[in-house]
Amino acid sequence: MFAEVVLAKASKFTDKIYHYSIPAELQPQVGHKVLVPFGKRKEEGYVVGFVEKADVPDVKEIYEIIGEQPLFNEKQAGLVKWMAEYYCAFLGTALKLILPSPANTKTLPPLPKGEGGNVKGERVRVLTPDQQKVLEKITKAIETKQSEVFLLHGITGSGKTEVYLQAAAKVLGMGRSALILVPEISLAPQIVERFKDRFGDIVAVLHSDLTLKQRREAGQRIKNGEARIVVGTRLSIFAPIDNLGLIVVDEEFETTYKSEQSPRYHAREAAIQLAKLHHAVVVLGTATPSIESYYKAKTGEYQLLVLPERIDNRPLPPVEIVDMRQDKSYLLSAKLREELYDTLSKGEQAILFINRLGYFTFLICQDCGQTIQCPRCAVSLNYDTSKKLLRCTHCGFSCEAKIICSNCRGSNIKFIGTGTQRIEKETADVFPQAKILRWDRDATAKRGSHDVFFAAFAEGKANVLIGTQMVTKGLDVANVTLIGVISADTALKIPDFRAAERTFQLLTQVAGRAGRHHLPGKVIIQTYDPANYAIKAAVTQNYEAFYEKEIQERRELGYPPFSKLINLILSGKDDSDTFKIASDLKGVLSRNVQGQILGPAPAAVAKVRGKWRYHILLKGQDIDEMRRKTLEAVEKVFSPREVKIVVDIDPI
Ligand code: ADP
Ligand code: ZN
Repeated sequence: MFAEVVLAKASKFTDKIYHYSIPAELQPQVGHKVLVPFGKRKEEGYVVGFVEKADVPDVKEIYEIIGEQPLFNEKQAGLVKWMAEYYCAFLGTALKLILPSPANTKTLPPLPKGEGGNVKGERVRVLTPDQQKVLEKITKAIETKQSEVFLLHGITGSGKTEVYLQAAAKVLGMGRSALILVPEISLAPQIVERFKDRFGDIVAVLHSDLTLKQRREAGQRIKNGEARIVVGTRLSIFAPIDNLGLIVVDEEFETTYKSEQSPRYHAREAAIQLAKLHHAVVVLGTATPSIESYYKAKTGEYQLLVLPERIDNRPLPPVEIVDMRQDKSYLLSAKLREELYDTLSKGEQAILFINRLGYFTFLICQDCGQTIQCPRCAVSLNYDTSKKLLRCTHCGFSCEAKIICSNCRGSNIKFIGTGTQRIEKETADVFPQAKILRWDRDATAKRGSHDVFFAAFAEGKANVLIGTQMVTKGLDVANVTLIGVISADTALKIPDFRAAERTFQLLTQVAGRAGRHHLPGKVIIQTYDPANYAIKAAVTQNYEAFYEKEIQERRELGYPPFSKLINLILSGKDDSDTFKIASDLKGVLSRNVQGQILGPAPAAVAKVRGKWRYHILLKGQDIDEMRRKTLEAVEKVFSPREVKIVVDIDPI
């Protein structure tokens, strides 16, 4: 047997697995820190696995093991190895994610494992027949240790969380552990509370806002088996959990699951890999599955489970469309004003939602609703204010910003990209007595956390809440009976092939915020594009209808799930240097890679912190081949230069 070792201080050139032989007196385990000979030096490294055969003839011996306890387990090491390879990241960078924080010098002795399933406050529900069916399938897979992936499709309030809770209880009963992933902790307070209420002290909560000390403590409790249910954000997949039986990924479509730093992993994909290592079951649960996941469920890669009805049969709120081409109001249509008036006079509360995507500005014809799209990529053109050009952020196509609509020849062209402050002002002008609370990133940065806003609104300190994406999630206030979506089009027109999917998800979620309790709710959606399939499907909350249309579009344009994507992002201080290198890179790629190569195009945000950014998008079928060829090309073009390049596999 030989040990696989990754150097603790690996450089770009030494970031790989080295093989070492094991002297008879040593018994290293995966996770042990070791001292090894390296060239003429001694280096520290971590054992990440064992192999039968070494890859070099004269293998050197490990000198010694540093410390008694392994710092991570075999499954964590397996996850890191997969991640570094799949996402083209350094092993050293990925390994940092599973190492306990450095201050952690003393390790508690292993404690006896808790019995598990000790039911505390929260009441265990008798499952409905639909829930029962779903739970049985999940339980069976857990029992037989098949590492199966289930997609649990159920509208809000259909009892998904109850299924997670009872599946977790089963897993505990078998002496195993469960991991529950949520997109963002501050926006998922209810699910965290329910797990804590039901399982008490054996729950550990992990997220990036914990202090180092808290994180270390949670890590310890997980490692020594005290905490056997972990609820947390994407970083919880790195926790030292032993013997996992179940991983839940709640709201699997959420973009917060994708890391924006190296390794640029998607927690859903990582969860599936981790589950394979543990022979555990994965449950992806949501009302609005990502197109990719639903496709996998339809084609048999995942198993589809459905909860078609709400628990108490409470109806979903009616959704009404306002065609802004007819209305011609600036922000608040006549219909929305009328409904606001009604709601406020009854002493009920309203939420006005705006999907602000800061850097995207585009032009829309107020007469016919037409936006200008890239002739090559079928995504909206972005308006570059500095150069006064319309530009495609995918392929770099650009043209002059016409002020006459190409569709109807009208000249009523308007910029879309409206902010919350303007809505706040207009609302205040129309309803001077209303108390308005604006909740967006600027406001939270100034006045504290989400909890502060949430509490203020829930206590009725404001009549109208105006907010961005944050208001679409988690908010559950009984007195909210009206939701106004200021412009459904902002999400629809973002220059992204997932624009329609995002729109459907957002509208479906935001609609779910109204009339959650005894008061009936209502949703008003303002749009310039009422015939759009994403908007029509959101009105009826018909996921199937949306999926059928969307999957057809993806097939025709060859976007995922019908292709794989790699995004290469180049950034550098000098605009023309950066562009030149991007062009060289594209040249090398074009000669070697099978598939389509788009760009180089300026990134959606063309300049960030003084650095110019370009990107190249690769579209192909064989991700392994694409990845290999990409790395080769990057090596060839880049080694001596000062321009930074980032490889993003499966970009979002
Ligand atoms: P989802 O996660 O799909 O939104 P939940 O699991 O939160 O759904 O269920 C919605 C509501 O119904 C919750 O208040 C939950 O406690 C309750 N509930 C769930 N399952 C049952 C059941 N079998 N019997 C009674 N109430 C239930
Ligand atoms: Zn284009």
